[in-house]
Amino acid sequence: MTFDVAAFDVPMPDPTALVCEAWERAWTLPERIDVSDWADDNRVIAKGAGAEPGDWKTDRHPPLREIMNCLSEHSPVRLVDFMKSAQIGATEIGINWAGYVIDLGLDSMIVAQPVKDLARSWATSKFDPAIVEMPELLAKMATDNTLEKRYPGGTLWVIWANSSKQLRQRTARYIFMDEVDEYPRDLGGQGPADQQLAARGMSYGDRARLYRACTPTVAGRSAIDAGFKEGDQRYYHVDCPHCGGEQVLEIERLQPNGTFACVHGCVIEEHHKTAMFREVGHGGTARWVPHNPDAPEWHRSYHLWAAYAPLGLGLSWKDIADQRAEAERNTALLPGFQNLVMGIAFEGARNEQDHEAVQALAEAGMQVGTVPRGGLILTAGVDIAHDRFFVKVMATGRGQRRFVVDYQIIDGDPTLPSGYDALDEFLKGTWKNTFGFEMAIAAVAVDGGNWTEMVAQYVKRLVNQSGGTRLINTGRGFQQQTVYLVRGRSEHTSQRAVYRPLQKDVNEREKTIARSVGVWGVGGSVLKTMIHGWIAAAIAEKERAVQAQDAEDIEGRMIRFPGGHGGEVDITNPDPGRLPESYYRGLTAEYYDIDAGAWVRPKGAYNEPLDTGVYAVWASLAPAVKADMIRDSQWAALEAQFEPAVIGLFDQAPAANDSRETRQETAPMEASNDSRETHAARKARVGLARDGWSL
Ligand SMILES: [Zn+2]
Repeated sequence: MTFDVAAFDVPMPDPTALVCEAWERAWTLPERIDVSDWADDNRVIAKGAGAEPGDWKTDRHPPLREIMNCLSEHSPVRLVDFMKSAQIGATEIGINWAGYVIDLGLDSMIVAQPVKDLARSWATSKFDPAIVEMPELLAKMATDNTLEKRYPGGTLWVIWANSSKQLRQRTARYIFMDEVDEYPRDLGGQGPADQQLAARGMSYGDRARLYRACTPTVAGRSAIDAGFKEGDQRYYHVDCPHCGGEQVLEIERLQPNGTFACVHGCVIEEHHKTAMFREVGHGGTARWVPHNPDAPEWHRSYHLWAAYAPLGLGLSWKDIADQRAEAERNTALLPGFQNLVMGIAFEGARNEQDHEAVQALAEAGMQVGTVPRGGLILTAGVDIAHDRFFVKVMATGRGQRRFVVDYQIIDGDPTLPSGYDALDEFLKGTWKNTFGFEMAIAAVAVDGGNWTEMVAQYVKRLVNQSGGTRLINTGRGFQQQTVYLVRGRSEHTSQRAVYRPLQKDVNEREKTIARSVGVWGVGGSVLKTMIHGWIAAAIAEKERAVQAQDAEDIEGRMIRFPGGHGGEVDITNPDPGRLPESYYRGLTAEYYDIDAGAWVRPKGAYNEPLDTGVYAVWASLAPAVKADMIRDSQWAALEAQFEPAVIGLFDQAPAANDSRETRQETAPMEASNDSRETHAARKARVGLARDGWSL
């Protein structure tokens, strides 16, 4: 993960104070002490708190030494990611580090746990008992508050990561993020909680020290897995006690009898552990070796799993072999085994789509930018990045069939009011259908998940209220356009597509405008499953037709894609009538993890073609359109309006539906904001009205 500090609203430390402090510290810092040395000199493990009470000995568990020393005050490392199995010492590292910081009186520290209960239990059952064993340290602590401990140099706060308030209130140079995979992936619309916290720490620059430790969960969703991959990926290399061959202990070479097969075939037995794990410089040859040369030197990442537990502590090699055999018999145990014992993210069974198969659904003769026959209502979805907008226009027709009409990437800065100009021109535009009629977008969903306040201001300028309407000039009259400010809901809780605005959906921080405008909820997982299902059915029908040498029922497809003039792709002269391959890659970027029961977006994947589709379909189901509720007679009326059978391509529009033009010509743009309209005016309006249909 990249720490774009500017992306977060982080209070920066006062530079003058920083310089003064640094100056002072340059004179007062004692000789360089490493965290591991401090622990060896001071740390006592309380009875009942660890398997081996008494004096801490790093030699007992050598792989922890380097990880701890990354957190030392003079270390060049700023970020340490420790991806690990359960019970391998990650929490002890955190306690040793906290003791070191307090004892040396360095600065303030945050210990973050996923939820309040865990924060309390970390403080009362792990930290406090450890401190009680070290009277000199205890004497330095001025307060006896469970979650806030003062000492000369700073305060240690124990916080929980699912509270925006907690995250906002605290900033510290040292941050220990425990069990980061359990943190909210999006907190208050500001992104993943661990990134928000990290960005705060990183505002201290070189002086920041961040330690994230976790047993990983599901691949693609796991923060620690992502952090490990971005770091320098250190594995603990050991030498075979027989042949001296260098290797990493890998589960593939663990034998059912609890021995490891050396890469050269020797038998390594469990009792060899102690000597084999001893490090270079400490009487042995083992060492951490980075496997990712691309990582910045300040970002270290470590992987350690159950086979590296000290002899006599944790699972024996035989235990691990037995558990593996059990997980192979009962696959329900496999995720737990991979996470807790192997310390790796679980790659579950997944439903995914091949972008080439989806691209092959594109239909020759259907053009990007033209509404195909059968497309009677246009809706749009807008997704926002820091310098551009992604917009998809979709048409809906009878039987809730959907057509992809347009997909554009529009430059603009969402933090500036003027940044929305080009987007707005696009949304006010019209699209010709194959009969030559200009159609405007009936409903737009604009993602307010990021830059919420600025996006809310934009929606307010257009329609005052999220769900309000404005009038779009189609060249032969006006058509209503309803604009919604929306935000995705968390995957596990969404059970339907459309959620009305709730006050609590809006973070306190964004209260004024977003709350007054109203944020509608998007059940993203429901809509993704829907779109995925439409595509899967179309691919299945295509395959069936090929196998049966039968005609394919293309009209029956629930979703259709423009294929331009058809034929081979010519890269030097791309066909503007079809969507590029990148579109289809983006549309299929996410997959459904069957075991996790959730949609997964691989880290950094370009998924806007899918997200904008989710919002566009959402807009067609929102109250302004309610495509799922449209009656046959209403579809017939729309067909009469936009697809008249007797009228040629370039003839004038029929006069059948003139009531709305007349109505709107007498009350032009000042009526663009329906919340200010009179009840009578609203009642008189026809077409796509706010409260559903009134044809
Ligand atoms: Zn060997």
